[in-house]
Amino acid sequence: MSDKFVYMDYNATTPVDAEVVKAMLPYFSEKYGNASSKHHFGNESSAAVEHSRKQISCLIHCNPKDIIFTSGATESNNLALKGIIESNYKENINIVTTEIEHSSILDVCKSLSASGVTVKYVKPNEYGIVSSEDVENAIDDNTVLVSVMTANNEIGTIQPIPEIGQICKVKNILFHTDAVQAFGKIPIDVNEFNVDLMSISAHKIYGPKGTGALYVNSNKKIKLAEQINGGGHEHGFRSGTLNTPGIVGFGKAAEIASSGMYADFQKEIVQRDILTENFLKRISFTYLNGSKEKRLPNNVSISFEGVESGVLLSHIKNIALSTGSACSSATLQPSHVLKAIGKSDSQIKSAVRFGIGRETTNEEINYVIEKVVEAVNRLRG
Ligand code: PMP
Repeated sequence: MSDKFVYMDYNATTPVDAEVVKAMLPYFSEKYGNASSKHHFGNESSAAVEHSRKQISCLIHCNPKDIIFTSGATESNNLALKGIIESNYKENINIVTTEIEHSSILDVCKSLSASGVTVKYVKPNEYGIVSSEDVENAIDDNTVLVSVMTANNEIGTIQPIPEIGQICKVKNILFHTDAVQAFGKIPIDVNEFNVDLMSISAHKIYGPKGTGALYVNSNKKIKLAEQINGGGHEHGFRSGTLNTPGIVGFGKAAEIASSGMYADFQKEIVQRDILTENFLKRISFTYLNGSKEKRLPNNVSISFEGVESGVLLSHIKNIALSTGSACSSATLQPSHVLKAIGKSDSQIKSAVRFGIGRETTNEEINYVIEKVVEAVNRLRG
C-alpha cells in the first residue's frame, strides 16, 4: 500500500464512472449531431439530451423541462443570482445569502454589490449551520432573492433548506440553493425543499467536468435574464450549442446515483465516522470542524492544532487531501468558512478536508489514519 496513491478528495471532484464513459462515447464521433438541428443526426442528439434531463429530474423530483444545462455549477450560480437581479431590478434591492457560500456565490455577490445591490450575509453558528430565523430576520420588503447552499463544500454541514424554503414561500421571495455538494449524496426533493432555483454539477457525482445545470421551477414563471446570449437555447435561459456527450454523462451519473445512493451513503457514513473517531481519540488537540450530525456522509474536516495543514500534506504526499476547498486553496486565502464559524487562526491554518468516495476502501481508511497520526505526532515532535 505504501507506494500507492490514495485519493481522498472526493469533495473536490470524482473520477468518471466507467458506465458514464461508456454512455458518453458514442456522442463524440458516431452520434455527433447538433441537438438543435432538425434532421436525423440532430434528433438523435436531442433525444439523448432529453433522456438526460429526465434522469437528472428523477434525482431531484422535478419536471424535466425545469433543468437548464450549463457548463457547471459556477455558471449556474452566476446565472441564478445575476439573472434574477437583472430581471427583477428595482431601487434599494437586496439579496440574502450566507457567509459560508462557495466563491461562485460570494464573488457574484461582490460584483452585484459593486453595482449597487445590497447583499446581506447571514452568519452560521459555531457548528456551521445557518438558522432559518436569522434568514427570516434578514429578509425585508426589498429582498428579491435568498440563496443558501444545501451543504458546505469545506466542512460538509447541511443547512435547514426546507425550513428556509418555507419562509421564502410564505413571503413570496425567490429561493435559490447551491446543491452541488449534496446532490447525489443525500435525498433531494425540490418540492420538499421549497426551492425555486437549484445549482448542480456533474463532476461531483462521477460525471464529466464542465457540465452542470440550473433547476428553474417552471410553475412560477420566473424572470431570469440570460447571461450568455446567442441562439436562445434552453428556453432562452442559456445560449450555446449543447454539450451532448457531457450532458449524456451527467444523466447517466445521476441515474447511477439514484439507484445506488443509499448503499454509498451507508458505507461512507461508517468510513467517515471511523476516520473522525480515530483522529479525535488518538491525537490530542484535534477538532472536528462543523456539526457531527448534520453533515454530508462523505466529508470530514479536522484541525490538527499546531501542525500547519500545508506542511502536513507535504509529509503525506501520496494521499490526496485538501487544506480547505480546492477552489479556495488555489487562492491561498484563509478559509472564510472556518473564520465564519469562529475558529482560531491556528485551527484554520491546521484544517484538513478528507473527502470519501464510492471507491474508498476500508484498507485506504486505515492506511490514511495511520499515516496522518504518525505524521502529526512526528511534526509536533
Ligand atoms: N458550489 C459548490 C458548493 C462547490 O463545491 C463547487 C465546486 N467546488 C461549485 C459550486 C462549482 O462547481 P463547478 O466546479 O461545477 O463549477
